[in-house]
Amino acid sequence: MSGLADRLADVRMSIADAATEAGREASEITTIVVTKFQPASLVAELAALGVLDVGENRHQEAQAKAAELEGLGVRWHFVGQLQSKKAKHVRAYATAIHSVDRAALVDALRSDEASVDCFVQVNLTDDPGRGGVAPEALEPLVERVLDTPGLTLLGLMAVAPLDEPARSAFARVRTLSERVQRLAPGASSLSMGMSHDFRDAILEGATHLRIGTAITGNRPVAG
Ligand SMILES: *Cc1c(COP(=O)(O)O)cnc(C)c1O
Repeated sequence: MSGLADRLADVRMSIADAATEAGREASEITTIVVTKFQPASLVAELAALGVLDVGENRHQEAQAKAAELEGLGVRWHFVGQLQSKKAKHVRAYATAIHSVDRAALVDALRSDEASVDCFVQVNLTDDPGRGGVAPEALEPLVERVLDTPGLTLLGLMAVAPLDEPARSAFARVRTLSERVQRLAPGASSLSMGMSHDFRDAILEGATHLRIGTAITGNRPVAG
């Protein structure tokens, strides 16, 4: 019996519990298993367990795994900071890009080919190095995404800061989402919630969880 299957079952049960607590259906929540630093073989094991939504945060690693596992039906979610010069390459294999956070990246993702789903990432800290657009600059960036061919805006993405309870941080994202929906009524998805805070995220309306170590176990040391 694989530890992976056990951890996956445990997390799924916790997600179902939190959904019940929030008065929501667990079926409206997509769990993306973040497999950064893990070998492609682990992604193959996840696929065999029925997990097809997988998250990665580095282009080279994601591209290599996507190539190796072609044909398994894995949907690759790009969740890390993305350099504009790599944007076109990520488009080629990603089903969704969760980290759209500046105009130059939006422009680099422009395409006349099939549309890719995306989330605008908001920065909930005062540190510009953390990735994500500052809340004050949210609307112009959303408008730019809406005006750019080749991008379908699903909603907002955020990472909870370390120095604030996750629940109140996610509540702020929910408020920001109302601003976004005034410009884009369909863009109501919320990509938030990781191994240690997914319950809080579900209580604040998360539709896409990005869960790594709670399911995969500890990450191997970066190599
Ligand atoms: C690594 C990562 C996750 C998953 O983190 P865990 O704590 O392992 O669940 C989620 N989102 C992003 C953006 C990440 O880089």
